[in-house]
Amino acid sequence: MDLKSGYPFWAVKNGLMHAFPPLQEDLRCDVAIIGGGITGALVADELAAHGHDVAVVDQRDIGWGSTSASTALLQYEIDTHMVDLAKRYGEDNAVLAYRACADAIDLVAAKAGDIRDVDFARMRSLYYASKRRHRRDLEDEFALRKRHGFEVEWLDGGRVKADYGFDAPGAILSAKAARIDPYRMAYRLLARLQKRGGAVHDRTPIARIEVDDRGATLTSNDGATIKAKHLVMAAGYASQQFLRKKVAKNRSSYAFITDPIDAGTLGALKDTMVWESARPYLYMRTTGDGRLLVGGDDDSVDIPARRDAQVDRKARKLADKVAELFPDVPLEPAFAWAGTFAETDDGLPWIGVSPDHGRRLLFAMAYGGNGITYSMLGAGLLRALVERRKHPLQGIFGFER
Ligand SMILES: Cc1cc2nc3c(=O)[nH]c(=O)nc-3n(C[C@H](O)[C@H](O)[C@H](O)COP(=O)(O)OP(=O)(O)OC[C@H]3O[C@@H](n4cnc5c(N)ncnc54)[C@H](O)[C@@H]3O)c2cc1C
Repeated sequence: MDLKSGYPFWAVKNGLMHAFPPLQEDLRCDVAIIGGGITGALVADELAAHGHDVAVVDQRDIGWGSTSASTALLQYEIDTHMVDLAKRYGEDNAVLAYRACADAIDLVAAKAGDIRDVDFARMRSLYYASKRRHRRDLEDEFALRKRHGFEVEWLDGGRVKADYGFDAPGAILSAKAARIDPYRMAYRLLARLQKRGGAVHDRTPIARIEVDDRGATLTSNDGATIKAKHLVMAAGYASQQFLRKKVAKNRSSYAFITDPIDAGTLGALKDTMVWESARPYLYMRTTGDGRLLVGGDDDSVDIPARRDAQVDRKARKLADKVAELFPDVPLEPAFAWAGTFAETDDGLPWIGVSPDHGRRLLFAMAYGGNGITYSMLGAGLLRALVERRKHPLQGIFGFER
């Protein structure tokens, strides 16, 4: 399936950053990873850093799946409120999930500092009530997060207007959030892995997978094989085809990016990402070169040709919505695109061993609006499973829940 429409900014901006050869010879390794997007790259990096011999394969060019379409806001705030997660899984689990996502931002920060030059920056996050009737839910959400020590501040309508210049009934301001160029990060991590002796092969579709209780054999379209003790399925939305039960719904999400805007005009937007309580939500954040990246208006379109046809109209609609909030910001889309986006019904990922396969096949399905923070956490969780250790997130991010 084609995972994106239009011109995803990261792919245009960065181009093909590095040449990885297609797989032409049989190889053996400890862990084979299907998928060279941000998830496969983070998992491979974590495993390789801890002495595991890894091989990454992707059917496209590296990063050319949904990673190239991602708007890459890094938030600990899951699409499902902590209050709602607590009702479903208990308060301890809800806090565990939120805290892990907050920690993931520090983990990505450390990794970005190490690999460098991936447009990482820490930001704040403003989550505003789109309607008066949402205010109460946001106040409850704020109170629960505050009680558990999250660094949040409640802004009433007056403060939102004074600090951000638009009208809203209230908002949660979180001190912890960040942004990154996920495509660049995936490329740089995988190029480093290759330099250090790891195998990275793109333009290598895997046509057959056999898994038993001793390991996995992958066969490419051209007949080359990889034999591994473990297989990590980081194939993005394609991973679902290996499960009997449907665990997520595919949706399309739309985005556009402006030309660089001067810091004075961006004002508080420069280092605060903004999103709202309506669903699907409108969201925006800046890039290092001062562009405004806007996304939202998700729909259930899952047919690439239909999605392609929507891109310009959706970009205009998003720009009109932002103009209502920030009339002084120039909002002409320089590039607009759409991407496939999977949603789970609780907003959490599926990371670990599935009930359909043995422990040699590990899934890294970092779905939802927090996909990249989930990938970061998934890397640690999957390493623990490969090393046969327990991990605190297994019960809430795994198939056990
Ligand atoms: C428009 C949009 C906005 C988003 N915004 C955010 C956001 O603000 N914050 C956030 O955290 N997340 C966001 N996400 C989600 C985030 O982008 C995803 O979670 C992330 O890109 C998933 O990365 P991945 O590596 O798992 O998947 P992908 O990047 O899709 O990589 C999977 C790879 O597997 C390969 N593959 C599949 N099948 C095979 C096979 N048989 N053989 C070989 N290779 C195979 C594919 O070619 C692909 O490259 C957004 C997504 C979209 C589309």
